[in-house]
Amino acid sequence: MKLHIKTQKNQPSLLTIDACPACNCKKLMPDYATGEIYCRYCGLVIY
Ligand SMILES: [Zn+2]
Repeated sequence: MKLHIKTQKNQPSLLTIDACPACNCKKLMPDYATGEIYCRYCGLVIY
């Protein structure tokens, strides 16, 4: 299983995740109100 997580130290990592690490879908929803990113498909909260 490949993870598509890019880590960039100079930027907030909110928008650098390409796909969900659990289901690999790319429907990630950033929730700026809580500062979290969650997967719309499986509901995994990544941050
Ligand atoms: Zn997912």
